[in-house]
Amino acid sequence: MAQTLAVEKLIIGGERVPASDGGTLDVVDPSTGQTLATLARATAADVDRAVKAARAAMESKAWGGILPAERGRILFRIAHKIRERAEELAILESRDNGKPLRQSRTDVQVAARYFEFYAGVADKIMGQTIPLGPGFLDYTIREPIGVSAHIVPWNYPIQIGSRGVAPALAAGCAVVLKPSSEAPMTALRLGEIVLECGLPAGALNVVPGTGSEAGAALASHPDINQLTFTGSVDVGVQVAKMAADNVVPVVMELGGKSPNIVFFDADLEAAAQGVANAIFQNAGQTCSAGSRLLVERRAHDEMVERLAARAKSMRLGPGVDDPDMGPIISKRQLETIEQYIQIGREEGAHVVTGGRRPDDPRLGGGYFLEPTLLDRVSNDMRVAQEEIFGPVLSIVTFEDLDEAAALANRSDYGLVAGIWTRDINKALAAASRIKSGQVYVNTYGAGGGVELPFGGYKKSGYGREKGLEALASYTQVKNVCIKFG
Ligand code: NAD
Repeated sequence: MAQTLAVEKLIIGGERVPASDGGTLDVVDPSTGQTLATLARATAADVDRAVKAARAAMESKAWGGILPAERGRILFRIAHKIRERAEELAILESRDNGKPLRQSRTDVQVAARYFEFYAGVADKIMGQTIPLGPGFLDYTIREPIGVSAHIVPWNYPIQIGSRGVAPALAAGCAVVLKPSSEAPMTALRLGEIVLECGLPAGALNVVPGTGSEAGAALASHPDINQLTFTGSVDVGVQVAKMAADNVVPVVMELGGKSPNIVFFDADLEAAAQGVANAIFQNAGQTCSAGSRLLVERRAHDEMVERLAARAKSMRLGPGVDDPDMGPIISKRQLETIEQYIQIGREEGAHVVTGGRRPDDPRLGGGYFLEPTLLDRVSNDMRVAQEEIFGPVLSIVTFEDLDEAAALANRSDYGLVAGIWTRDINKALAAASRIKSGQVYVNTYGAGGGVELPFGGYKKSGYGREKGLEALASYTQVKNVCIKFG
């Protein structure tokens, strides 16, 4: 029997409060299928309270009038506190989301790194002077955009939450964070940590709830100034339309069908390791998962052999036991993935390994699926075009660079691409032709890549998170023009 945690409250205006209608939602541990915690479930009225609290913070001396350097100091303290509580946060993330403990530990360190990185820039958000000629002084100021709304998914809760919250706070915005109802626990802990670190009341509010109620109330709220949405394309489109009604700018971090392109001349052992990690990390529930392997025909058999050996050796288990792969987030998502595997079979794909639930009775209560390789896939099959969001790799072969680049780009998505080759000319030529927001050569993901701008081409979204690039979303430029003399 899993230990059930106490009921968790919303964090609004610096206080822990129940939902206005007393409603709750149960959070399920996907490793066991049992209830992990019961949370206050934010209503539209709670979201409205949270936006009002954020607005009040913006207008307060404590937050709106704070020195930029002091904002930075608070963010450094948050980074420090996350590291102090790292193990507790990682265990909670693994129970809530199911991911292996070492992945949760990495996620928590990356979350701390976001606060540290943006702490350092809080007092370096500068404008320009623009030369208009004699008798004029013209300068720009980058002001905080205001109340920033964040709707995040369940797959990397603390990492993605921090990825948006840290730059928004560094820029001087006040934030309302709506975590996914599937995995909201570490977002609430983050809300507690920021209060302990002296962030003024209302500068960060955390309102777990359902998408259709709390999410929609936040996206359509007339008093938010900016929205960062991370999630699926379908919901992203709905959310963008809601925000458009109030002329609210949106950062859209959506899905992907990212290719790993492996040439014959690559270090195939390193490529196999990179490709396996890119698809099986977090059980394939990663926006930037390398879910298409495009492999040069001459390297196909060896790559498939190496990948199959890796997949077969992976140990499945509850996240807190630190297996090689944890469960899928929910029964519904597990069934969706199984349907895709069936679609692949019907389309003519060959299941090299996996494709079914493990028969270990100890895993019976959880939502486990074996790591799966689908070979003989053609790029126009649904399993090569649609985001499956599970541990399923679709393998497509190519003959040369031209065909590889064409296949890579024949996708509605354009989030990340990996290129594996020992030939620098080939690597650079491929990188220049691929239409995606990030390209990696002989690596994939770079351990979180806090410093690197991240975001999509095409239906993978627009706007950029991470790196200095993210600050553009949380600031607005004011130009001041003065005639003198
Ligand atoms: P989702 O779109 O179902 O939900 C994302 C968030 O939106 C959740 O908080 C949810 O409660 C909320 N939501 C749902 N319906 C809503 C509505 N009508 N109005 C407002 N909010 C609503 O996505 P998910 O299943 O949580 O996450 C998986 C998806 O997220 C995948 O497509 C994945 O690729 C994408 N993702 C993208 C990135 C990225 O950075 N590009 C990162 C992680 C995940």
